[in-house]
Amino acid sequence: MSFDDRKAVYPSNFATPHPNPSPTRGEGLNSSRCSNTTTKQTAGGKKYIALVDCDSFFVSCERKLNPELKGLPVSVVSGERGCVIARSREAKALGVPMGIPLFQAVEKYPECIYIPANHYAYTIISKMVMNILKEYSPNVQVYSIDEAFVDFTGLTRLYKKNLFKLALEIQEKIAKEVDIPVTIGVSTSKTLAKLASDKAKNTKSRIALAGKLTRLELLKRTEIDEVWGIGRRLGVKLRGYGIKTAYDFIQRDDAWIQKRFGKNGLTTKAELLGIMVSPITNEIELPKSISDTKSFLEFSSDLNFLKNELSIHIHSCCKRLRKIDCKTSTIGVILKTKDFRTYYEKVNLDCPLNFEFDISKIAFELLEKMFDTSILYRSIGIVFENFTQNSEEQLSLFESIPNREKNEKLGKSLDILEQKFGRNIVRTGFVDKDVPFKQGFLTSPQDI
Ligand SMILES: [Mg+2]
Repeated sequence: MSFDDRKAVYPSNFATPHPNPSPTRGEGLNSSRCSNTTTKQTAGGKKYIALVDCDSFFVSCERKLNPELKGLPVSVVSGERGCVIARSREAKALGVPMGIPLFQAVEKYPECIYIPANHYAYTIISKMVMNILKEYSPNVQVYSIDEAFVDFTGLTRLYKKNLFKLALEIQEKIAKEVDIPVTIGVSTSKTLAKLASDKAKNTKSRIALAGKLTRLELLKRTEIDEVWGIGRRLGVKLRGYGIKTAYDFIQRDDAWIQKRFGKNGLTTKAELLGIMVSPITNEIELPKSISDTKSFLEFSSDLNFLKNELSIHIHSCCKRLRKIDCKTSTIGVILKTKDFRTYYEKVNLDCPLNFEFDISKIAFELLEKMFDTSILYRSIGIVFENFTQNSEEQLSLFESIPNREKNEKLGKSLDILEQKFGRNIVRTGFVDKDVPFKQGFLTSPQDI
C-alpha cells in the first residue's frame, strides 16, 4: 500500500516526449515530489503555483489540424488496429468508452469519427503550449505531454494582474496562438493546484483558484482518492479508517498519519493545507528507456519490409536520443506475431551509440536472429535503455574518433533536414527502397 504517483500513463506505443514521460513509479514515496527545488521562497512572499492542463489533448490537436472536427464526436485511436485513447466531449456523451478496440467502437458507435493517433504532431503542439508557459514563468515543470506546473510566484506583480486574470490571459494566448483549449488551477501547492484544475473542468471559465477561503470547501467536496498521490487502493485503505474526503484526511494529526503512511502522507497533508512541500522542478530527468513501435497495416513475413519498418522506429528513437544529448548502451528489438506471440532480443554495447546507421546494423542482426520466414508478423519495435550523456561519455580505446565525429555530425544534419522539410524526408537504413513505405505519418511542419 503506498501513495502512488499519478503521472499520466501513456499508451504503450506512445512516443514519449522528453523530459518527463516518467512511468508510474510503483510502490513507495514519489521521489519527484521531494526533489531539488528551483523555486525559491520569496522573502515573506507567498508562492503560487498553477497547473495548466490541455483539454482532451489528442482530440484538441486533431481539431487544430482539422477544424472541421470541432463540435463533432471524435475519438483518437492508437494505430489502425488499436484502441480508443482519447475522446471529445461529444464522443463521451455518445458513451464511447476509453480503451475500447476500434473494431468494436466502429460497430457500437458508428456516428463517432475515429482518427489514428499522430504522436509526432502532438509532441510538437505540446511544445508550442509549453513554450508559451515558459514566456510567462522561468519555472515550468512539464509534467506530461498535456500538463505543466507553472510557478506563478511574483507574476501578479510583474504582469500587474490578479491570479485569475493572469490565468485567463495565458489561457487566451494559448487558444489564440496554438488553438488548444486549456484548464488552469491555481493555488499555493501542487496538490491543491491539481485539485483546483480538476474542479475547474466543471466551470465555464475553466479556471479555478483554491485560496485560503475556498480551500476548505474544496477539500470537503473532494473524495479522498481524487487527491494527487492517492491511488484507488490507498483510497480504500483510507476509507477503512473513516477518511472519505480530503478534508477528513487533514483532520488527522501528524503522528497518526506518519505512523500509517510515512513521510509521503505528511507531504500530502501539508500540501492540502496549502504549504508547498513538493516544489516545481525544471531539471532534466533522463528517461529510463526510449521506445517506438507500431502495428503494420497488413501482417507481413517480408524481412526487408520489417527492416524498413524497424529503420523508421530506430530513426525516431535516435532523434529523441540526440535531442537529450544522449547515447544508448542497450538496444532491443521487439517482434510481435499475428497470433500475439512476442519475441524480444537485446544487446548491451561497450560503446554507446545514437546514430541510425550504427544502430540499425546491430538491430538488424537481432531481428534476423528472431525472424522466421514462415511466420506472419503484426508489429516491430525498438527499445533503447541505459543512457549516457554525451558530456560524460568515455571514448572507447578501440574506436576511431574521426568516425565518431563524422557520425555525430551526420545525425545532427538529419535532424536539421527534418525540421526544415518534414518527418522522414531522409530514410535511414532502408534495405530495399522498392519495399513500400506503409507506416508513419509524413507530416511536414507546415501542416501543424
Ligand atoms: Mg489533459
